[in-house]
Amino acid sequence: MKLTFLGTGAADWDINAYDPASEFRRFSSALVNDDLLIDPGPHIFHFARSAGKPELFDNVKNIIVTHTHNDHFWPDTVKLLCCGRSVKLWGDPACMKKLKATLGDEVASKIDFNAIPVSRDPYRIGDYNIWSLRSNHQGDYWDEDTRLYLIEGVDLPDPSLPDGVLPVADVRMLYYGCDSAWIPTQSWNVIKEKPVNAMVMELTCGVPAPNDWRIFEHNTLEMLKLMLETFRKYRYFSPDVRFYTSHMARTLHSSHTQLVKELEPLGVTPAFDGMVIDV
Ligand SMILES: [Zn+2]
Ligand SMILES: [Zn+2]
Repeated sequence: MKLTFLGTGAADWDINAYDPASEFRRFSSALVNDDLLIDPGPHIFHFARSAGKPELFDNVKNIIVTHTHNDHFWPDTVKLLCCGRSVKLWGDPACMKKLKATLGDEVASKIDFNAIPVSRDPYRIGDYNIWSLRSNHQGDYWDEDTRLYLIEGVDLPDPSLPDGVLPVADVRMLYYGCDSAWIPTQSWNVIKEKPVNAMVMELTCGVPAPNDWRIFEHNTLEMLKLMLETFRKYRYFSPDVRFYTSHMARTLHSSHTQLVKELEPLGVTPAFDGMVIDV
């Protein structure tokens, strides 16, 4: 299973200040293989254009939404991806409220939206088993359940294996947790049992912001450290689990190079726009 980071920034990055020659993060969004999009934010087409891949979303069949904040859920992006195409949108009922409020009832009715509650059991979405779990955050609507996702996919056996080697399909699992302060207990009780291979944790607040007011809805570096110590102490997840961060705020971090240095002793890799990982 492949994950492409389309954006790795929090909501304080300004797309109008984009300069290909200097460090930049778009709003957080990611693409699983070529067919599952996590968060249809406002910057994903900018990423595709800048990367010279205008066809990047042609094979997208399903879109899952973490929450309705503008940096993650942009109705015009949904309209472009879903209207007149067989693309399904999945998330909290709040997504449809926002689509109707911004695009109007007629356009919203053309979007194949599937309201799914948070659940301890997975949904079958395309070729994936997806757990839609509560995050500790608040979207645009008071009654919205914001979400973390566990995504399980199967890597097909390598057809080029030599004779006598039995091909085995490999089940892989990804955790994607933007945005959330900590992991709520109810969600943790599901996640901790799973053989997760790659964890994408949010890190809105870096070294310059240890006690930022956002700690009630986002992670700081101190919070990330505590979670990592606990994950490792009790050997949660798969033995090959790797940790990544995304959703870094422009004003609450220094440079990416500095962040790589800060996270290296923790065994964590900060993502950058365009980074591709094998889960
Ligand atoms: Zn955000
Ligand atoms: Zn948010």
